[in-house]
Amino acid sequence: MNEPDVSLPTVPYLSEPGASEATSLYIDGQWRAAHNGRVREILNPADASVLTIVSEGGRPDSEAAIAAARRAFDTGEWRETAADERGRVLDRIADLLQRDREEISVMESLDTGKTIEEGGIDVDDVTNVFRYYAGLADKDAGRIVSAPEGVHSKVVYEPVGVCGMITPWNYPLLQLAWKMAPAIAAGNTMVIKPSEITPVTTCKLVELATEAGIPAGVVNLVLGSGPDAGAPLSEHRDVDLVSFTGGLATGRRIMASAAETVKTVALELGGKNPNIIFPDVDLDTAVDYALSAAFFHSGQVCSAGARLIVHNDIHDAFTTELARRAEAIRIGRGQDEGVRCGPLVSAEHRAKVEAAVARGVEEGARIIAGGKRPDDPALARGYFYRPTVFVDCDRSMDIVQTEVFGPVVTVERFETEAQAIELGNDTDYGLSGGVWTNDTARGERVAAALRHGTIWVNDYGPYFPGAEWGGYGRSGIGRELGFAGLDEYREAKHIYRNLAPEPQRWFG
Ligand code: NAD
Repeated sequence: MNEPDVSLPTVPYLSEPGASEATSLYIDGQWRAAHNGRVREILNPADASVLTIVSEGGRPDSEAAIAAARRAFDTGEWRETAADERGRVLDRIADLLQRDREEISVMESLDTGKTIEEGGIDVDDVTNVFRYYAGLADKDAGRIVSAPEGVHSKVVYEPVGVCGMITPWNYPLLQLAWKMAPAIAAGNTMVIKPSEITPVTTCKLVELATEAGIPAGVVNLVLGSGPDAGAPLSEHRDVDLVSFTGGLATGRRIMASAAETVKTVALELGGKNPNIIFPDVDLDTAVDYALSAAFFHSGQVCSAGARLIVHNDIHDAFTTELARRAEAIRIGRGQDEGVRCGPLVSAEHRAKVEAAVARGVEEGARIIAGGKRPDDPALARGYFYRPTVFVDCDRSMDIVQTEVFGPVVTVERFETEAQAIELGNDTDYGLSGGVWTNDTARGERVAAALRHGTIWVNDYGPYFPGAEWGGYGRSGIGRELGFAGLDEYREAKHIYRNLAPEPQRWFG
């Protein structure tokens, strides 16, 4: 196999480093510059070099994109397109994602820091999501409702309208696909606003959607900061739904501003996810999965198993082995062979991770692996941080309760099953969790008792397009993926027809 090309492709929407112009906004079927011509440098997190230049949009650009999406919805052309044809467009997007798989994997790797292999896994996952909603697009047109004689009653599904989609930097392609695929299936139009620091594969996906036959105005893209380019999507009266994936504080802000126009709000927020290890498991396997749960994509995963809860009987053996293997993880550029942990996404984000670690130490937690930047001078310019393991942790600590979103795992102890469940539920979040035991009944009991949106028993991390994803508590509102992920983008309408109306004389 050829070594993958590790540079960005030459495409019109990504300008060369140093350029003073860019046309990276996609509005009403055209790539455009920002209204005031502003641009932004996108940095490679592995060495802080400028990767590309993109347009930096603002409120007027978002308003233009909303207007285009509104027009495209109101003309009715797209929402009245037969559902099976919308499904075929989704299938074509899936084909194109696979056609350009290598290129997209490299783009995602350079932009976010993740390994090219992880970028490829993302492309395959995203392809499956488009295929899933391609299949679902024409499967459920509504239903006839049981009604008294002389009445015909049916429920039909209609698109919600103009959808605002705001996404984070850790899985730019994947988080967008979870919104875009069902929204297209249901016949909506949309305005997409990716994270300002990782816009590259979002532009690519919009390009592929256009190539697949999405009409002008249906999919629109604005780039720029949250307060400037993002906020109009939650505020504007012509947006009917805002779907947001990102941090808790931003989610609160979006929900509050969406309240003004009472738009539908879907939120996928953070997590502090417990991974509970009972003593009857194979230690080698449980440690192996605990490492992946905590350190995949350098821990920048909303469902990361960042909170280990380990039985007293195996605590010492487990943590010793965990620390040994964490120290051995190969850190480096995501484009280099054999690397397992790439850089964190930005200097600001690494500073937050370092502050969280310092707080953990102040609180009395003890570091047994990592806790600092790598010593390798070749990595000095990038935003690297070593996989870090904290022991002597307890539930009152900030390091245990607050999402760090970096390669940091805490370990707490438990003795009884009831204690494990209590600790696993002792969080404001509720996104996901893991439980490891060879006792099937116990696995089922603990999975049932944990108040989180996804529970893995003897595994950690996989998801399916057909299984709903979302959070309890402050991890969010609503569900993505599965049938519920399509329902987010549909309104149910009841049509009641009286077959033979006669005077009722209620009022004489
Ligand atoms: P963030 O909240 O800082 O930003 C997310 C997006 O919101 C960005 O596009 C940003 O520009 C935009 N934004 C910021 N302020 C805004 C405003 N006032 N109005 C509109 N948009 C605004 O989050 P992040 O740092 O990019 O992502 C990390 C967070 O995302 C973590 O907390 C992580 O757990 C969460 N996340 C959750 C899931 C999930 O499925 N639940 C998946 C991935 C990431």
